[in-house]
Amino acid sequence: MEFNEDVSLDTSQVQDMRGSGGGGIGGRVALGGGGLGIVGAILYFVLSQLGGVGGGVPLSTGDVSSGEQVNNSELASECKTGKDANTNHDCAVVAVINSIQGYWEDQFARSNLTYEQAPTNFFRGGVSTGCGSATSDVGPFYCPADSEVYIDLSFFQELTSRFGTQGGTFAEAYVLAHEYGHHVQNQLGTSNRVREGSGPTSDSVRLELQADCYAGVWANHATTTPASKGGKPLIRTITEADIASALDTASKIGDDYIQRELGGGRVDESQFTHGTSAQRERWFRTGYESGDPNSCNTFDTNNLG
Ligand SMILES: [Zn+2]
Repeated sequence: MEFNEDVSLDTSQVQDMRGSGGGGIGGRVALGGGGLGIVGAILYFVLSQLGGVGGGVPLSTGDVSSGEQVNNSELASECKTGKDANTNHDCAVVAVINSIQGYWEDQFARSNLTYEQAPTNFFRGGVSTGCGSATSDVGPFYCPADSEVYIDLSFFQELTSRFGTQGGTFAEAYVLAHEYGHHVQNQLGTSNRVREGSGPTSDSVRLELQADCYAGVWANHATTTPASKGGKPLIRTITEADIASALDTASKIGDDYIQRELGGGRVDESQFTHGTSAQRERWFRTGYESGDPNSCNTFDTNNLG
């Protein structure tokens, strides 16, 4: 995956809280009640309807509690163009976020809808959100209450060291595109359809597989979608190996894989919240091959794969 060198990056789509120290919360904070465990640690979608976060008071967008200050000055000075994204990891993440949101802005506009940009918060250790407090243990997540994405970038190292993925920038892009898929669902009202929290054909699994599919849809358009109106695409090339690295990641964060390899070894379908590895690969591929969000009809099919 390569970025076009002369395309500008928009660091305002990120809120860098890594320098604020402390993170503002002590100890481990359980999100998602009893169901969190190891499964919830991965791309866990914080869903208050499921009792995911009890009584979290929504913060307004951009609001950060004391001890967590946003300071984008370093990002802004380091990440100016796609050239920086080709050499600096933080800048590559910014570029990917710009590309994902550029795509959805266009896609919503084509349907006469307005896409509201969602910032991604970089944090270290722990963070307070509109959905309550979270530690890095939960993995990257999207909070519907404040419409923001949260990520401790050390998760990407964990993907390779703990989950055994190949890693790479495009594998990371898949993770981010999945979280933005939840933002799209939030805006379209899909998140409200979720009633059953777990099980192989639960609404939760359908929501997660749809987010994987939306990630694939973005990947289809990534090299043609302009970063800003009328501009050049931020992403110049995506290779077969890149797509393979996204599929490889999807295959290692399925519920069955995690339960078998990283949990107790026993696969318990009743606890599924994200879908199997095979399903996650299938729905990313469905989105990637079609390039059409309408193909991501996980709520209307009897065949989730
Ligand atoms: Zn998710």
